[in-house]
This record gives sequence, C-alpha cells and structure tokens, in this order.
Amino acid sequence: MLNRVEGIVLKTQDYGESNKIVTLYSREFGKITAMARGAKKPASRLAAITQPFTYGSFLIQQGRGMGTMQQGEQIESYRHIREDIEATAYASFVVELINRAVEDSTPQPAIFNLLQQALHAIADEYDPEAIALFVEWKMLPVTGIYPTLHECANCGATDGEFSFSFQQIGFLCHRCFAVDPYIVRLTPAQVKLIRTFYTVAIDQVGKLTLKKETKKFIKKIVRTIYEEQTGIRLKSQSFLDQLDRLPEYFPKKENPSTSQEEGE
Ligand SMILES: [Zn+2]
Repeated sequence: MLNRVEGIVLKTQDYGESNKIVTLYSREFGKITAMARGAKKPASRLAAITQPFTYGSFLIQQGRGMGTMQQGEQIESYRHIREDIEATAYASFVVELINRAVEDSTPQPAIFNLLQQALHAIADEYDPEAIALFVEWKMLPVTGIYPTLHECANCGATDGEFSFSFQQIGFLCHRCFAVDPYIVRLTPAQVKLIRTFYTVAIDQVGKLTLKKETKKFIKKIVRTIYEEQTGIRLKSQSFLDQLDRLPEYFPKKENPSTSQEEGE
C-alpha cells in the first residue's frame, strides 16, 4: 500500500552504507518510521528531504514492518532553524520531546499542529526558548500528567494567593499551603504566565517578550514535573544548558523595554 503523508522529520539514523531510517511525525498516522534508501548519498533525491525539521509531503510504501520512503516534497524548509545555533538547539529539544512523549502510529492531529506551529514560530524568529517552554507545558497531558492550574488542587478555590506544589502537581491556594511543605511561592504574574503556557494557543505565546529570569523559573517547574513524573530527560537539554552558561558567545535578542509580562 502506498500512502501519502504530511509530516515533519523528528529524527534520522544512519543505516548501513547509504540508507537512513527516518522518524516522522505525520498528520495522518502520528509517529512513523520509514527506510530512506540511498538518502545518505548527497546526490540522492531523498537527501535534502530527510534532514531534521523538514516539513514535507512524503510517499511511503507500507508493507509488513517498516515502510519505505519512495519520495518526498518539501513544504517548508525552516531555513532560520538550520542557520541559527540557538534556534537549532531549541528546535532539537522540541522534536526530541515529542519523539519521546508520543506512542508510535497513534494519530493525534493536535500534536502535529503543535509541532508544526512551534517550528514555524522558531523559524519566524520568535523567542525559541519561550516556544520550547510552551511545548513542554502543552505536552504534559500527552504523557498522562494533567496539572491543576485553574483552581486550588486541594480545595478548589479560584481566589487568593497561589503557590505551586509538585506533590499535588498544581496550584495550592494560601488556605492550603500547609498541605505540602515544599511549595514554591508564586507571584500573581507567575500564576498567570503558567496558565498561559498551559492553555493559550501558540501564536499568542509567541508574542510575549519574557525576561530570562522568568523563563528560567517557569522552566524549572516544568522540568521538575517531567523528571519526577515521567523520567523523560532529553539529550538536547544538556546542549541548551551549555548555551545558557555561555551567554557572551550567543547574545540574546531581548528587549526588556517591550516586556508585557509584568503589566498585564
Ligand atoms: Zn485551597
């Protein structure tokens, strides 16, 4: 059976002298793998189309076992992602997280859209760190974690001061702070921002200009949830941590004067 799928290359693995095994996230079938024969040779017509982050339309011959990629056409190249080291690093993180979090051959169009919008936003030079953070929050339910962020996880109150509880995986109101001795206190702006990351569409998150410190704080919360609840730890994370430690080599395009986070 020959299938045409719309997909994004999550990962490639060399196979033998000249072949690649390509992992795609497709709109139609979810995560699938296909053998791309000859794709390691630069002259191959499959060479360009099987680069990581490529968004394309692929023709896959499906037999028993792994399919074979017959041909592919690029829909978007996401050039900026390949040319900018920070964009590459965050895009790598996004595709690795999605690759790890999803099951094979389970169509989830919402995840395809999330991936496509995230790469598109990074390629459009939105803050890649904020986009990656957004994907992290949005992928929590895919791994079976549903944080309680719309009310107090203990009493259901929607008013008051809030803190984050890893034990409850969600917010606790000030009346319930005693429930968890290890709560992380949050300002109202932080509460609002966490809800935004979890619930709001990606095209709106892209417009936020966030301070480095704010991103670091929110990132620490979501990473701790992943580490404690899912055991997912990503290889691309250590490269991002290195980038963070070398700010002088990678000047950040930040403009704190246009920051929206405190004012809202
Ligand atoms: Zn409460």
